[in-house]
Amino acid sequence: MNRHFNISGYTPVGDLAVVSICVVMIVLIIFSYVRKTRSFRIFLGIIGLLILAANVDVAFYSILSADRPELHSLAGGMHCAFHGLLYLVFLCYVAYILEVTRLDRRRRRIYMALSLGIFAVGMALDALDAVNGVKLRVVGGSLEFQGRDVFMYGYLAFVGLIAVLMFQVRNRLYKRVMLGFYGTMAVSFIILVMQARFGQTSFTVLTFLYPVIAMFYILHSSPYDARLGTIDSRALEDMVRLNYENNIEFVFMSLYLRDFDEEGKPLPEEVQAAVRRFSVSFFKGATLFQPGKGHMILLYTKRRNPDYEKRIQRIMEAFDQEYQRLGYEYKIVIGESIGEISRKNEYVSFIHNVHRGMAPNTVYRVGEKDVEWFNRQEYILKQLEDIYVKGDLDDPRVLVYCQPVFNTRNGRFDTAEALMRLELEQTGMVYPDQFIPLAEQNGYIHMLTEIILHKTCKAVKALIGEGYILSRVSVNVSAIELKENAFCDDIIRIIHRSSLSGESIAIELTESRNESDFMLMRDKIAELKELGIKFYLDDFGTGYSNMERIMALPFDIIKFDRSLVTASGDSERSRQIVGALANMFSDMNYSVLYEGVEKDSDEAMCRNMRATYLQGYKYSRPVPIEKLREYLDRGDAA
Ligand code: C2E
Ligand code: CA
Ligand code: CA
Repeated sequence: MNRHFNISGYTPVGDLAVVSICVVMIVLIIFSYVRKTRSFRIFLGIIGLLILAANVDVAFYSILSADRPELHSLAGGMHCAFHGLLYLVFLCYVAYILEVTRLDRRRRRIYMALSLGIFAVGMALDALDAVNGVKLRVVGGSLEFQGRDVFMYGYLAFVGLIAVLMFQVRNRLYKRVMLGFYGTMAVSFIILVMQARFGQTSFTVLTFLYPVIAMFYILHSSPYDARLGTIDSRALEDMVRLNYENNIEFVFMSLYLRDFDEEGKPLPEEVQAAVRRFSVSFFKGATLFQPGKGHMILLYTKRRNPDYEKRIQRIMEAFDQEYQRLGYEYKIVIGESIGEISRKNEYVSFIHNVHRGMAPNTVYRVGEKDVEWFNRQEYILKQLEDIYVKGDLDDPRVLVYCQPVFNTRNGRFDTAEALMRLELEQTGMVYPDQFIPLAEQNGYIHMLTEIILHKTCKAVKALIGEGYILSRVSVNVSAIELKENAFCDDIIRIIHRSSLSGESIAIELTESRNESDFMLMRDKIAELKELGIKFYLDDFGTGYSNMERIMALPFDIIKFDRSLVTASGDSERSRQIVGALANMFSDMNYSVLYEGVEKDSDEAMCRNMRATYLQGYKYSRPVPIEKLREYLDRGDAA
């Protein structure tokens, strides 16, 4: 096939546009923090090739229009090089798609081999054409460049190959990303058809640029929060990886503002201004990331800030002033790059984990210990997840410990509280403060309650069967569990499974400050009370203690928190207040239980403050539920 390139159908407009757009993209890449991945390097390669191709194209047409026949043989070479560059762009597209979609190695090799094949054959044909077939002649007053259109075959072969590849990887990419690419390819195609229709050749290279713009926008942009100058946690991970791979030590400073840790609660302008100032004025080359609402992490290298300790001191002083002025609750975590956390790229969850153990408005410098703790917590979390997924009510990792409760009315231990422990392979015994918050935050707590309830029911059934006097065992339930729709059904089902009556089980709940939680609690308590289940208000005196609400809920027993017992032992005034509260509850027919009774003097004091039940180390520490036998009386012995 012969093809005539009419020089009047070409203006350098398209190619100049390509060059300028590519330069703009390079500028943007320099000033935005873009993920420097392998696919990104291929992407940069494509931009470079496009700039070259556009320049060669301009040169080619300049030579042709210069009307200097001695240069015409050069034009043939130029034309050939131009096609070669465009083939290489195609080749890079293929490599890029393979890289992004992580196709298996075998198929990657096949696609790369096919691409190289098309490239080689295309170049060979083009070279032959350049040597033999290129001619220039004047047709109808305008200059025409004549050659066989071998490039079109290569072009179509590449388009076909990419189409097959895209089809094969269709499920490996997020659908919207895929549609983005198809959309831009369609635009390229339309432009090619239009330019052919108008006898134009100016925009060929431009059509190669559209997919590049799509890549830039969809896959390689990490947009700033324009006002704060932050980037998201994905970018943080890339920065960490880069530093880790290149052995660059860095320092991170994390600021968490609880007040803004909610959707739709933007940082106020004055806070934004402060954050902006802080992120640029104290450290060289610092980058600010925003991994979550109200959470910012500043990262800088030690190399560029050798005196970072001094600077940390200065930024903290400045922060203190800012805090005096603004007064938002904060948690600050400061640390130096830790190999293990960098390798796993887990700074954000590491910092979250550190937060959990911090009091509000404190600054914490992390060390080795925290890493150990973090790893332990991660392990516990994995185990919790596994317990949750398996859903085995007899899971051996969940242990029921029990603390007997002394009944002052009959001088017996006839009730007890079930307390959970985990027994894990790598850590041994784990206590509630180390896993209850984790289980609550990750939605595993209800499963644990079901297990503990099931095991408690079985043990209580056995004890009663053996003739022990045991009125009931109470089980702790977290307030968030009440939000589960099936909460009551689950509890009822498990109690019935062991053919135990509801009276043998009690549920301990703590107060909630939230109005809708309160209503929920009221309904669920009412439903379960019908089965004879008793309800304890746990930890009275530690939280909110809204009397009106407490009275509105049908609790049976009020558990006075250990802190009230301690305070009463320390001061006459506290004793009066606690005594008055106990009187009030008793007069209203609640039973009063004192927790944390450790000494004889505690017991005497609590007895004087209307105690019905006493619980604490004085009588027993929590013991495995089977050991409860040692504390209980037998019906026949009485
Ligand atoms: P809690 O419900 O207030 O349980 C009483 C805690 O006080 C227990 O700690 C118990 O060992 C401890 N304690 C008992 N007597 C004394 C004493 O005389 N002095 C002192 N200093 N402490 C005493 P434990 O077993 O570590 O449990 C801690 C918390 O974990 C519990 O506080 C409860 O809120 C939670 N928890 C335990 N088991 C479960 C469970 O199965 N489900 C849920 N949701 N939470 C649980
Ligand atoms: Ca309790
Ligand atoms: Ca308690």
